[in-house]
Amino acid sequence: MSGQTIPPATPTRQAPPTGAVGVVEKVNPVTGHVPAPFWTAVGRGLGNHCPYCGVGKVFAGYLKIVPECSHCAAPLGRLRADDAPPYFTIFLVGHVLVPPVFWIEKAYEPPMWLHMVVWLPLFTILCMLLLRPIKGGVVGWMSTLGIDQEVAAPAAVRVPDRNA
Ligand SMILES: [Zn+2]
Repeated sequence: MSGQTIPPATPTRQAPPTGAVGVVEKVNPVTGHVPAPFWTAVGRGLGNHCPYCGVGKVFAGYLKIVPECSHCAAPLGRLRADDAPPYFTIFLVGHVLVPPVFWIEKAYEPPMWLHMVVWLPLFTILCMLLLRPIKGGVVGWMSTLGIDQEVAAPAAVRVPDRNA
């Protein structure tokens, strides 16, 4: 073993701050925020909590998302859920309520007006109750996808001059 030299210590990469070996954090290069793991972020969003820190609120009203978290300043307003929350809400409520609609129609054959009086408000109420938490969950999901980063604006947008 004599004659071998131990190479001098060379600088190595730092371990991720979380201590998880082999996990590369998806740090947003613009804001520096680190998204939480998928189920953590979705769960926080479902409960109207910021998917990044779990403390601040997601909504500033029924469905309006705050521009940024009041606690960690994460840019929640840039997480645009668009049509995903109503899609998931209708999908879920439909699968919950349509089977009983058909079953009751087949079993009891109630008049159509009774169907309308019972099911339409029930569909509406369930959708209203679920839309907000589902939107929060989608926002949490989106925070894990790294799609909250700013998109470069088009170089030039020409607006036609109506007075010309
Ligand atoms: Zn936050």
